[in-house]
Amino acid sequence: MSIRDPNCVFCKIAAGEIPSLRVLDTPSAMAFLDIGPLAEGHLLLIPRNHYRTIDQMPPDELTEVTSCLPSLARAVVKVTGATGYNILQNNGRISGQVVEHVHFHIIPRKEGDGLGYRWNAGKYPPGRAETLHREFTAILG
Ligand code: 5GP
Ligand code: ZN
Repeated sequence: MSIRDPNCVFCKIAAGEIPSLRVLDTPSAMAFLDIGPLAEGHLLLIPRNHYRTIDQMPPDELTEVTSCLPSLARAVVKVTGATGYNILQNNGRISGQVVEHVHFHIIPRKEGDGLGYRWNAGKYPPGRAETLHREFTAILG
């Protein structure tokens, strides 16, 4: 049984109702060129089923989808001549997610491409990391 949101642009792409430049099709995933690339060859990998965020996905399905990443990344490097790539996956509006259907960006990177993001590393006050660690292990075991 497939899960679909009738208003979702990526569901429509998965169903072939909106055209896309597909580069990979599997029973559970597809990948295509991003229409607004951060760099030439920027790809999107999506599950065929509609999930808004990663935490809503069944782990097995997420495994199937992400198992496509190595071959997609190799293809991006080969086609674009990139010397590296970012895999970016936004969840929720605050994170930058615009399309509310899980997707992975595969963004080719080259020296001097001008891409980047703020990475303002912080520092825990004494005891705070240990408190957080206790909270995490209470949930995750
Ligand atoms: P987000 O900000 O949600 O992580 O990224 C959504 C991405 O989807 C953007 O990079 C945007 O360019 C891409 N996108 C949105 N609509 C379409 C579309 O109709 N076709 C394709 N190929 N990409 C799209
Ligand atoms: Zn969708």
